[in-house]
Amino acid sequence: MSGAVLVTGGAGFIGQHLVRALLAQGARVTVLDNLSTGRRAALPDDPNLRVVQGCVTQPPDLGQPELIFNLACPASPVHYQADPIGTWRAAALGTHAMLELARETGARLVQASTSEVYGDPEVSPQAEGYHGHVNPTGPRACYDEGKRAAEALIADYRRVHGLDTRVARIFNTYGPGMAPDDGRVVANFITQALRGEAMTVYGDGRQTRSFCHVRDLVRGLLALGEGEDLGGEIVNLGNPAEITMRALAERISEALGVALKLDLRPAAPDDPRQRRPDITRAKALLGWTPEVALEEGLAATIAHFRAVLAAG
Ligand code: UDP
Repeated sequence: MSGAVLVTGGAGFIGQHLVRALLAQGARVTVLDNLSTGRRAALPDDPNLRVVQGCVTQPPDLGQPELIFNLACPASPVHYQADPIGTWRAAALGTHAMLELARETGARLVQASTSEVYGDPEVSPQAEGYHGHVNPTGPRACYDEGKRAAEALIADYRRVHGLDTRVARIFNTYGPGMAPDDGRVVANFITQALRGEAMTVYGDGRQTRSFCHVRDLVRGLLALGEGEDLGGEIVNLGNPAEITMRALAERISEALGVALKLDLRPAAPDDPRQRRPDITRAKALLGWTPEVALEEGLAATIAHFRAVLAAG
Protein backbone atom coordinates (compact mmCIF):
# COMPACT_ATOMS: atom_id res chain seq x y z
CA MET A 1 0.00 0.00 0.00
CA SER A 2 1.82 3.14 -1.10
CA GLY A 3 -0.87 5.80 -1.51
CA ALA A 4 -2.67 8.16 0.88
CA VAL A 5 -4.26 6.34 3.79
CA LEU A 6 -6.46 7.76 6.56
CA VAL A 7 -6.59 5.92 9.88
CA THR A 8 -9.21 7.20 12.30
CA GLY A 9 -8.40 6.21 15.85
CA GLY A 10 -4.82 5.75 14.66
CA ALA A 11 -3.32 6.67 18.05
CA GLY A 12 -5.18 3.84 19.81
CA PHE A 13 -3.94 0.37 20.61
CA ILE A 14 -4.61 -1.32 17.26
CA GLY A 15 -4.22 1.93 15.33
CA GLN A 16 -0.63 2.53 16.37
CA HIS A 17 0.41 -0.91 15.08
CA LEU A 18 -1.55 -0.48 11.86
CA VAL A 19 -0.02 2.96 11.23
CA ARG A 20 3.54 1.64 11.70
CA ALA A 21 2.84 -1.23 9.30
CA LEU A 22 1.41 1.18 6.69
CA LEU A 23 4.41 3.52 7.00
CA ALA A 24 6.74 0.53 6.57
CA GLN A 25 4.92 -0.24 3.30
CA GLY A 26 5.54 3.29 2.04
CA ALA A 27 2.07 4.75 2.59
CA ARG A 28 1.44 8.42 3.37
CA VAL A 29 -0.67 8.22 6.50
CA THR A 30 -3.03 10.72 8.10
CA VAL A 31 -4.28 9.88 11.58
CA LEU A 32 -7.46 11.45 12.94
CA ASP A 33 -7.79 10.87 16.69
CA ASN A 34 -9.40 12.82 19.51
CA LEU A 35 -6.73 11.40 21.85
CA SER A 36 -9.36 10.39 24.42
CA THR A 37 -7.91 6.90 24.81
CA GLY A 38 -5.13 7.11 22.23
CA ARG A 39 -1.78 8.86 22.77
CA ARG A 40 0.29 10.89 20.30
CA ALA A 41 3.44 9.41 21.87
CA ALA A 42 2.34 5.96 20.69
CA LEU A 43 3.05 7.07 17.11
CA PRO A 44 6.45 7.76 15.54
CA ASP A 45 7.65 11.08 14.20
CA ASP A 46 7.77 10.38 10.50
CA PRO A 47 7.66 12.71 7.47
CA ASN A 48 4.99 10.47 5.95
CA LEU A 49 2.74 10.73 9.00
CA ARG A 50 0.36 13.58 9.80
CA VAL A 51 -1.54 13.42 13.09
CA VAL A 52 -4.71 15.49 13.31
CA GLN A 53 -6.43 15.87 16.68
CA GLY A 54 -10.15 16.00 16.06
CA CYS A 55 -13.46 14.21 16.30
CA VAL A 56 -14.50 11.59 13.76
CA THR A 57 -18.12 12.82 13.93
CA GLN A 58 -17.11 16.29 12.72
CA PRO A 59 -13.90 15.71 10.86
CA PRO A 60 -11.66 18.56 9.73
CA ASP A 61 -10.18 18.58 6.21
CA LEU A 62 -8.42 15.22 5.78
CA GLY A 63 -7.26 15.56 2.20
CA GLN A 64 -7.90 12.93 -0.45
CA PRO A 65 -7.40 9.47 1.05
CA GLU A 66 -7.49 6.46 -1.26
CA LEU A 67 -8.11 4.13 1.65
CA ILE A 68 -9.77 4.75 5.02
CA PHE A 69 -9.36 2.49 8.04
CA ASN A 70 -12.15 3.56 10.40
CA LEU A 71 -10.99 2.57 13.89
CA ALA A 72 -12.14 5.59 15.92
CA CYS A 73 -14.16 4.47 18.96
CA PRO A 74 -13.30 3.51 22.52
CA ALA A 75 -13.24 -0.30 22.59
CA SER A 76 -12.57 -1.25 26.21
CA PRO A 77 -15.81 -1.73 28.19
CA VAL A 78 -14.65 0.60 31.00
CA HIS A 79 -13.86 3.33 28.49
CA TYR A 80 -16.89 2.94 26.26
CA GLN A 81 -19.27 2.77 29.22
CA ALA A 82 -17.72 5.88 30.83
CA ASP A 83 -19.10 8.02 27.98
CA PRO A 84 -21.88 5.92 26.43
CA ILE A 85 -23.41 8.70 24.34
CA GLY A 86 -20.01 9.71 23.00
CA THR A 87 -19.32 6.05 22.22
CA TRP A 88 -22.52 5.60 20.23
CA ARG A 89 -21.85 8.85 18.40
CA ALA A 90 -18.28 7.84 17.50
CA ALA A 91 -19.37 4.37 16.36
CA ALA A 92 -22.47 5.34 14.37
CA LEU A 93 -22.13 9.03 13.44
CA GLY A 94 -18.36 8.73 13.02
CA THR A 95 -18.89 5.94 10.50
CA HIS A 96 -21.49 8.06 8.74
CA ALA A 97 -18.95 10.89 8.42
CA MET A 98 -16.32 8.50 7.05
CA LEU A 99 -18.80 7.05 4.54
CA GLU A 100 -19.54 10.59 3.34
CA LEU A 101 -15.80 11.22 2.99
CA ALA A 102 -15.44 7.96 1.05
CA ARG A 103 -18.29 9.02 -1.21
CA GLU A 104 -16.69 12.42 -1.90
CA THR A 105 -13.18 11.11 -2.48
CA GLY A 106 -13.87 7.67 -3.97
CA ALA A 107 -11.86 6.08 -1.15
CA ARG A 108 -12.21 2.46 -0.13
CA LEU A 109 -13.39 2.03 3.48
CA VAL A 110 -12.29 -0.69 5.90
CA GLN A 111 -14.43 -0.71 9.02
CA ALA A 112 -13.26 -1.87 12.43
CA SER A 113 -16.38 -3.67 13.59
CA THR A 114 -16.43 -6.05 16.50
CA SER A 115 -17.36 -9.48 17.83
CA GLU A 116 -19.71 -7.49 20.09
CA VAL A 117 -22.18 -7.42 17.18
CA TYR A 118 -22.82 -11.06 18.21
CA GLY A 119 -23.64 -9.94 21.78
CA ASP A 120 -23.90 -12.83 24.24
CA PRO A 121 -23.88 -15.51 21.53
CA GLU A 122 -26.08 -18.59 21.63
CA VAL A 123 -23.87 -20.41 19.13
CA SER A 124 -20.19 -21.21 19.16
CA PRO A 125 -18.03 -20.55 17.30
CA GLN A 126 -19.53 -17.39 15.81
CA ALA A 127 -19.58 -17.20 12.02
CA GLU A 128 -20.37 -14.04 10.05
CA GLY A 129 -23.87 -15.30 9.17
CA TYR A 130 -24.94 -15.31 12.84
CA HIS A 131 -27.13 -12.27 13.55
CA GLY A 132 -26.28 -12.06 17.22
CA HIS A 133 -27.97 -11.85 20.60
CA VAL A 134 -27.63 -8.28 21.83
CA ASN A 135 -29.42 -6.46 24.64
CA PRO A 136 -30.34 -3.21 22.84
CA THR A 137 -30.72 -1.15 26.03
CA GLY A 138 -28.09 -2.57 28.40
CA PRO A 139 -24.79 -0.98 29.44
CA ARG A 140 -22.92 -2.50 26.49
CA ALA A 141 -25.51 -1.32 23.95
CA CYS A 142 -23.77 2.00 23.26
CA TYR A 143 -20.89 0.04 21.74
CA ASP A 144 -22.69 -3.04 20.40
CA GLU A 145 -25.59 -1.16 18.85
CA GLY A 146 -23.37 1.71 17.70
CA LYS A 147 -21.22 -0.77 15.81
CA ARG A 148 -24.27 -2.60 14.48
CA ALA A 149 -25.74 0.69 13.27
CA ALA A 150 -22.41 1.36 11.57
CA GLU A 151 -22.56 -1.99 9.77
CA ALA A 152 -26.14 -1.27 8.65
CA LEU A 153 -25.08 2.13 7.29
CA ILE A 154 -22.11 0.65 5.48
CA ALA A 155 -24.33 -1.96 3.82
CA ASP A 156 -26.73 0.78 2.67
CA TYR A 157 -24.00 3.12 1.41
CA ARG A 158 -22.72 0.20 -0.60
CA ARG A 159 -26.16 -0.61 -2.01
CA VAL A 160 -27.19 3.02 -2.61
CA HIS A 161 -23.89 4.64 -3.61
CA GLY A 162 -21.82 1.64 -4.72
CA LEU A 163 -18.96 2.29 -2.29
CA ASP A 164 -16.10 -0.17 -1.93
CA THR A 165 -16.42 -1.19 1.73
CA ARG A 166 -15.04 -4.04 3.82
CA VAL A 167 -15.88 -4.90 7.43
CA ALA A 168 -13.57 -6.61 9.92
CA ARG A 169 -15.33 -8.03 12.97
CA ILE A 170 -12.45 -7.84 15.39
CA PHE A 171 -12.35 -10.27 18.32
CA ASN A 172 -10.40 -9.66 21.55
CA THR A 173 -6.96 -8.36 20.69
CA TYR A 174 -3.95 -7.89 22.97
CA GLY A 175 -0.24 -7.22 22.80
CA PRO A 176 2.52 -4.67 23.32
CA GLY A 177 1.29 -1.10 23.12
CA MET A 178 -1.71 -1.61 25.41
CA ALA A 179 -1.98 1.16 27.99
CA PRO A 180 -1.79 0.15 31.67
CA ASP A 181 -5.20 1.77 32.21
CA ASP A 182 -6.69 -0.03 29.18
CA GLY A 183 -9.16 -1.78 31.50
CA ARG A 184 -9.44 -4.96 29.44
CA VAL A 185 -8.68 -8.28 30.98
CA VAL A 186 -5.16 -8.94 29.65
CA ALA A 187 -3.96 -5.47 30.66
CA ASN A 188 -5.63 -5.71 34.07
CA PHE A 189 -4.35 -9.18 34.96
CA ILE A 190 -0.76 -8.46 33.92
CA THR A 191 -0.48 -5.04 35.57
CA GLN A 192 -2.18 -6.30 38.74
CA ALA A 193 0.16 -9.30 39.00
CA LEU A 194 3.24 -7.17 38.28
CA ARG A 195 2.20 -4.84 41.13
CA GLY A 196 1.75 -7.82 43.48
CA GLU A 197 -2.01 -7.33 43.58
CA ALA A 198 -4.73 -9.98 43.17
CA MET A 199 -6.22 -10.30 39.68
CA THR A 200 -9.82 -9.04 39.51
CA VAL A 201 -12.05 -11.77 38.07
CA TYR A 202 -15.61 -10.75 37.24
CA GLY A 203 -18.23 -13.42 37.85
CA ASP A 204 -17.25 -17.07 38.12
CA GLY A 205 -14.34 -16.71 35.70
CA ARG A 206 -15.70 -19.50 33.51
CA GLN A 207 -16.68 -17.11 30.72
CA THR A 208 -14.47 -17.49 27.67
CA ARG A 209 -12.69 -15.24 25.21
CA SER A 210 -10.29 -15.96 22.34
CA PHE A 211 -7.26 -13.68 22.24
CA CYS A 212 -5.57 -12.55 19.04
CA HIS A 213 -2.13 -10.98 19.07
CA VAL A 214 -2.15 -7.49 17.56
CA ARG A 215 0.54 -8.41 15.01
CA ASP A 216 -1.74 -11.08 13.56
CA LEU A 217 -4.71 -8.74 13.65
CA VAL A 218 -2.90 -6.01 11.73
CA ARG A 219 -1.86 -8.52 9.04
CA GLY A 220 -5.53 -9.38 8.65
CA LEU A 221 -6.63 -5.75 8.44
CA LEU A 222 -4.01 -5.01 5.79
CA ALA A 223 -5.05 -8.04 3.75
CA LEU A 224 -8.67 -6.95 3.95
CA GLY A 225 -7.74 -3.47 2.76
CA GLU A 226 -5.49 -4.66 -0.06
CA GLY A 227 -7.53 -7.28 -1.92
CA GLU A 228 -9.13 -6.09 -5.14
CA ASP A 229 -12.17 -8.37 -5.05
CA LEU A 230 -13.27 -7.95 -1.46
CA GLY A 231 -15.85 -5.17 -1.78
CA GLY A 232 -18.81 -5.83 0.54
CA GLU A 233 -17.12 -8.59 2.51
CA ILE A 234 -17.61 -8.97 6.25
CA VAL A 235 -14.84 -11.01 7.85
CA ASN A 236 -14.17 -12.20 11.39
CA LEU A 237 -10.59 -11.51 12.49
CA GLY A 238 -9.61 -13.29 15.68
CA ASN A 239 -7.75 -16.24 17.11
CA PRO A 240 -10.00 -19.27 17.65
CA ALA A 241 -7.99 -20.51 20.66
CA GLU A 242 -10.63 -20.14 23.41
CA ILE A 243 -9.81 -19.83 27.11
CA THR A 244 -11.70 -19.12 30.35
CA MET A 245 -10.78 -16.03 32.35
CA ARG A 246 -9.69 -18.24 35.23
CA ALA A 247 -7.34 -20.19 32.96
CA LEU A 248 -6.03 -16.89 31.57
CA ALA A 249 -5.21 -15.75 35.11
CA GLU A 250 -3.38 -19.04 35.71
CA ARG A 251 -1.37 -18.70 32.47
CA ILE A 252 -0.33 -15.16 33.35
CA SER A 253 0.71 -16.15 36.90
CA GLU A 254 2.74 -19.04 35.50
CA ALA A 255 4.40 -16.81 32.91
CA LEU A 256 5.33 -14.35 35.67
CA GLY A 257 6.39 -17.07 38.09
CA VAL A 258 4.11 -15.75 40.83
CA ALA A 259 1.46 -17.47 42.96
CA LEU A 260 -2.10 -17.17 41.63
CA LYS A 261 -4.05 -14.53 43.60
CA LEU A 262 -7.65 -13.83 42.58
CA ASP A 263 -10.02 -11.10 43.70
CA LEU A 264 -13.50 -12.40 42.78
CA ARG A 265 -15.91 -9.59 41.89
CA PRO A 266 -19.59 -9.58 40.86
CA ALA A 267 -20.28 -10.45 37.23
CA ALA A 268 -20.50 -7.53 34.81
CA PRO A 269 -24.04 -7.07 33.40
CA ASP A 270 -24.60 -8.60 29.95
CA ASP A 271 -21.05 -9.99 29.94
CA PRO A 272 -20.91 -12.51 27.07
CA ARG A 273 -20.46 -16.06 28.42
CA GLN A 274 -18.51 -17.33 25.45
CA ARG A 275 -16.74 -15.93 22.44
CA ARG A 276 -14.81 -17.72 19.74
CA PRO A 277 -14.45 -16.73 16.08
CA ASP A 278 -15.13 -18.99 13.14
CA ILE A 279 -12.36 -17.84 10.78
CA THR A 280 -13.21 -20.05 7.80
CA ARG A 281 -14.01 -16.97 5.71
CA ALA A 282 -10.81 -15.09 6.62
CA LYS A 283 -8.76 -18.15 5.67
CA ALA A 284 -10.54 -18.59 2.34
CA LEU A 285 -10.71 -14.93 1.26
CA LEU A 286 -7.50 -13.53 2.73
CA GLY A 287 -5.36 -16.61 3.23
CA TRP A 288 -5.15 -15.32 6.81
CA THR A 289 -4.63 -17.33 9.91
CA PRO A 290 -3.22 -16.21 13.28
CA GLU A 291 0.34 -17.30 13.98
CA VAL A 292 1.18 -16.01 17.46
CA ALA A 293 0.35 -18.50 20.22
CA LEU A 294 -0.98 -17.14 23.52
CA GLU A 295 2.17 -18.16 25.43
CA GLU A 296 4.44 -16.20 23.07
CA GLY A 297 2.07 -13.24 22.91
CA LEU A 298 1.67 -13.04 26.67
CA ALA A 299 5.46 -13.08 27.14
CA ALA A 300 5.83 -10.09 24.80
CA THR A 301 2.94 -8.28 26.48
CA ILE A 302 4.38 -8.90 29.94
CA ALA A 303 7.74 -7.49 28.78
CA HIS A 304 5.91 -4.42 27.45
CA PHE A 305 4.05 -3.81 30.72
CA ARG A 306 7.20 -4.40 32.81
CA ALA A 307 8.92 -1.63 30.84
CA VAL A 308 5.92 0.73 31.07
CA LEU A 309 5.50 0.24 34.83
CA ALA A 310 9.27 0.57 35.44
CA ALA A 311 9.22 3.90 33.58
CA GLY A 312 6.51 5.08 36.00
N1 UDP B 1 -12.68 -9.38 33.01
C1 UDP B 1 -12.26 -9.82 34.26
N2 UDP B 1 -11.45 -9.01 34.98
C2 UDP B 1 -11.02 -7.80 34.53
C3 UDP B 1 -11.45 -7.37 33.26
C4 UDP B 1 -12.28 -8.19 32.54
O1 UDP B 1 -12.62 -10.92 34.72
O2 UDP B 1 -10.26 -7.13 35.26
C5 UDP B 1 -13.52 -10.28 32.22
C6 UDP B 1 -14.79 -9.62 31.68
O3 UDP B 1 -15.85 -9.72 32.62
C7 UDP B 1 -15.03 -10.44 30.41
C8 UDP B 1 -13.62 -10.82 29.95
O4 UDP B 1 -12.78 -10.66 31.08
O5 UDP B 1 -15.74 -11.61 30.72
C9 UDP B 1 -13.10 -9.93 28.82
O6 UDP B 1 -13.30 -8.59 29.22
P1 UDP B 1 -12.65 -7.38 28.44
O7 UDP B 1 -13.04 -6.14 29.20
O8 UDP B 1 -11.19 -7.62 28.24
O9 UDP B 1 -13.28 -7.39 27.00
P2 UDP B 1 -14.72 -7.77 26.39
O10 UDP B 1 -14.47 -9.01 25.64
O11 UDP B 1 -15.69 -8.00 27.52
O12 UDP B 1 -15.08 -6.60 25.57
